[in-house]
Amino acid sequence: MKKVILKPGREKSLNRRHPWIFSGAIARNPEEPEFGETVEICSSEGAFLAVAAWSPRSQISARVWSFSKRGIDREFFLEQVREAVRGREALFSECSNQLTACRLIAAEADGLPGVIADRYGDYLVCQFLSAGAEAHRNDIVDCLNEVCIPVGIYERSDVSVRQKEGLNDRAGLICGQEPPEVIVINENGIKYEVNVRTGHKTGFYLDQRDNREAVAAHASGRDVLNCFSYTGGFGVAAAVGGAKFVTNLDSSQNALALSDDIMRLNGIDPSRYANVEGDAFKVLREFREQGRKFDLIILDPPKFIESQQQLHRGCRGYKDINLLGFHLLNPGGMLYTFSCSGLMDSHLFQKIVADAALDAGRKAMIVKWLTQAPDHAVSLNFPEGFYLKGFQLQVQ
Ligand code: SAH
Repeated sequence: MKKVILKPGREKSLNRRHPWIFSGAIARNPEEPEFGETVEICSSEGAFLAVAAWSPRSQISARVWSFSKRGIDREFFLEQVREAVRGREALFSECSNQLTACRLIAAEADGLPGVIADRYGDYLVCQFLSAGAEAHRNDIVDCLNEVCIPVGIYERSDVSVRQKEGLNDRAGLICGQEPPEVIVINENGIKYEVNVRTGHKTGFYLDQRDNREAVAAHASGRDVLNCFSYTGGFGVAAAVGGAKFVTNLDSSQNALALSDDIMRLNGIDPSRYANVEGDAFKVLREFREQGRKFDLIILDPPKFIESQQQLHRGCRGYKDINLLGFHLLNPGGMLYTFSCSGLMDSHLFQKIVADAALDAGRKAMIVKWLTQAPDHAVSLNFPEGFYLKGFQLQVQ
């Protein structure tokens, strides 16, 4: 195995089991490794630290497969996949018949940097997002087949982060049967239609599962605004939870059309919901001018911050949308507000939402801190895996 030698002192993060080696931490690599090649990471004194996948084009030059000296082969991937799947089975052991979709492999958190695998019914949908994941794609797929026995495995490696690794987009069937146009999943008794070919991420926001449940539990009798509704996940949960009326608001006509199908699939009477297609920033302002009010509002915008340069502008976006949200809430109303930008930390998000409440002249109490569902695992050693933050607020 080729060796990569770190600069003095740069072994610290590896000693804490953090799996990334940044280019700036590397002193030298006497033999230039190939793309995705397994390398040995050594301290400046030559001590073994980890085996990792080499990524020549990324700022993250290597991602750790293992902190023990071992071969990275099919056996290794089988162990990792087995362990991850076993973990999910334990997590959902009490509701497995009511839950047919979840994240099985959450990349770094599951010891498989760059590998995402989501289960949607009998199918798996995967993403290979790093050089190492790409180099071992066949073995990983083989192990997923062996452990999960899916009807088919579909790939959705059509995400911009691949460019940072020097990889092009790839999407399509990997093996088994083509998934149907929509897969119907069951989540705690609610059915959702998922299009794994065209849907966001691998098809659905599985990470919001627990938050959908929280909304359902508080929706009874309320007039609900589901802003940035996508295919209406929160809206359907609210309707099933007994909401008086649900307004889904999104800029995507296709997403709204699918949300109608999902409402129908769950037997929700069309008189109990409406869709508004438009730009949330504009539509919420119009609602405000019209004096419209809601009892429960969900604000789940897209990632406003993709890079440090976008931080300032992104923060303004979050502030603006939350300010509008506060204005539109009836006294005693509930606000569910989220940020999925990994670069925005929880404290900053709280400050932004607090500023918005202040400007709107509203007092808000945190009922619950919200985050990604636990199958979107976050390892203690890899805080970067935590991206979804939110608050359930009771607003006076
Ligand atoms: N809440 C959804 C996920 C939201 S994803 C769920 O739980 O499933 C973000 C959504 O915001 C996308 O559907 C996208 O079409 C929509 N969107 C992006 N910019 C928008 C804007 N300016 N106004 C309204 N919708 C927007």
